[in-house]
Amino acid sequence: MITLSAVSKRYGNATHAALDGVTLDITEGDFAFLVGPSGSGKSTLVRLLLRDEKPTDGDIHVAGYHLNTMSGRQVPKLRQRIGCVFQDFRLLPRKTAGENIAFALTVIGRKQSDIRVAVPEALAQVGLEGKADRLPHELSGGEQQRVALARAIVNKPSLLLADEPTGNLDPVTSQDIMLLLERINATGTTIVMATHDTHLVDRARRRVIELDNGRVVRDHASAAYLADQ
Ligand code: ADP
Ligand code: ADP
Repeated sequence: MITLSAVSKRYGNATHAALDGVTLDITEGDFAFLVGPSGSGKSTLVRLLLRDEKPTDGDIHVAGYHLNTMSGRQVPKLRQRIGCVFQDFRLLPRKTAGENIAFALTVIGRKQSDIRVAVPEALAQVGLEGKADRLPHELSGGEQQRVALARAIVNKPSLLLADEPTGNLDPVTSQDIMLLLERINATGTTIVMATHDTHLVDRARRRVIELDNGRVVRDHASAAYLADQ
């Protein structure tokens, strides 16, 4: 699903590389946590996968696309294969929960009749039946993240990227979101989640990829947030 070969990223004329010789293989169906201190390169890696940024060196393949040689016109196709959630939810504030999800389908040209079926399905998948007409500010943080998650998976992406999805949530709500991510992963969706949430990582016992200073310093299956635990 994702292959990085000796990928480096240097922003502008920075002397320091944000990513430095990263080689990674994430296969279909994997659930991988991306951990490491602030500034270690986690967001840069996520932006490279989305083709928000191009690598300075090395090759990146995502969902069958070679990102290095991909034309700008192909980028929307790549992004249709990838769902995204972020720490700050990024819902459109004047659209209801249902409209936020529908909008993501409208902009990629899906038929109105399909959208009418898909939106309630996606809301049900995240346990928000009955909240379709709420505006984001009428929902709790956890509910807003569920809407964002429903929007991210409504197009059935093969890859879900989550950048600190529980960063603004309390521990119990974070656990709920994690449970949903596990369930989405169980349907075959590959998940890459950047996080500082030691508790979630330790409980999940999934693959942990640790970055430090732009380098992969640990990549273990069924691991804890900290090495040797
Ligand atoms: P993390 O997500 O782990 O906090 P980042 O990927 O945001 O790490 O940052 C990695 C390094 O790249 C840091 O040194 C950061 O200052 C630098 N960096 C990130 N984004 C930019 C940018 N747009 N322009 C210049 N430097 C950046
Ligand atoms: P931003 O500046 O954060 O990109 P936008 O107003 O463009 O803000 O988007 C707000 C939210 O709507 C974002 O979370 C974004 O993911 C979502 N969004 C915008 N365009 C699309 C799209 N084409 N497909 C799916 N979601 C979209």
